[in-house]
Amino acid sequence: MKLKLSKLASLLTAVLFLAATAPARSELAPPAPDAVMNLDLHTHTYCSDGGETPETVVGKAAEAGVEFLAVTDHDTMTCVSRAKKEADAKGVRLIAGIEISVGAGSMHVLGLGVDAENAALKALMESADHERIRRAEAIVQKLNDLNAGKPIDFLADLVLTKVNKNRVIDGAEPIGAEAAAEMGREALLSGFTGEITRPDIAQVLVDKGYVADTKEAFSKYIGNDGPAYVPVQGPSFTDVLDIIHNAGGIAVLAHPFTIFKVPADLAKQYADFDALFRALVEAGLDGVEAYQPQTQYTKDNETKLSAALITLPEKARRKLLYVPSSDYHAHEKIGGKNIGGLPMPKEEAAKILRALNIHKPRAAKSAK
Ligand SMILES: [Zn+2]
Repeated sequence: MKLKLSKLASLLTAVLFLAATAPARSELAPPAPDAVMNLDLHTHTYCSDGGETPETVVGKAAEAGVEFLAVTDHDTMTCVSRAKKEADAKGVRLIAGIEISVGAGSMHVLGLGVDAENAALKALMESADHERIRRAEAIVQKLNDLNAGKPIDFLADLVLTKVNKNRVIDGAEPIGAEAAAEMGREALLSGFTGEITRPDIAQVLVDKGYVADTKEAFSKYIGNDGPAYVPVQGPSFTDVLDIIHNAGGIAVLAHPFTIFKVPADLAKQYADFDALFRALVEAGLDGVEAYQPQTQYTKDNETKLSAALITLPEKARRKLLYVPSSDYHAHEKIGGKNIGGLPMPKEEAAKILRALNIHKPRAAKSAK
């Protein structure tokens, strides 16, 4: 039953990471242009920690020739309807998506093709909303306790900055400090699109002179090992997979390399990534991100994911979807630098589209 490693390597070279590296690609006969499809199923807008509006993201996808695009903001689908409208106008097929933080937040699962109106999914988004506000406040408290710079005011420095950042992107006038104070907490918290995320806090640390850049903010204070780190408390992965499936979607493990070192909250149960990955598949995981842009790809990641895949029963491995994703944020430091550019074999793409219940319309299809 055991596959030899060389066989594994060729199996996976054929299945995975085709878009990732020139050497991997050159090992295969160049696919005919009509044998590949351009999908990008993981992108962010300013509704979470992306830097652009959904309209801009969709516009860039259209320019890059992306045929199927998923907008997958963190724990929110606020920007999906705007993205859909723009996608319809630009001839891009939009897949409604979300990226859900599991447990203490190190594991992210994409829900693709989900119904934003599903009650359980809505409840999950709402509690994630409250949880992210609680967490941001707790991080700010920790930073103030550390006394490492000018005190940070949660509302004036963080929330108002987020509100104004959105307003500037939208072409609206920023709100001044006095007007913001009059508005009060609830109005401010409902005045921005999406979620407050750590990059927002990192920017405040730069503005306040704690650190030289946002990278330093993470390494010195708010990164997973930093003194001001506060984990999010999200649902378990079994709950997340159930909610995604009940909302009509498929569940895909995002950037698997972020959990190669098993997250602390799961380390008691799962000895290593292989064991955790098997548990995810047993719980109903439909796919895993595998086609990544060059800027995200490393040989080491490919090797580790391949090793985990080969420990799965063959049937499960065959069933699994290998998903193309840029994790585009319009930021230098997070995710791929561009949307799309992840051409994959048509039959692999067709498997994903079938799972999503998407049938490419045929021009000549007659009415029933
Ligand atoms: Zn992401």
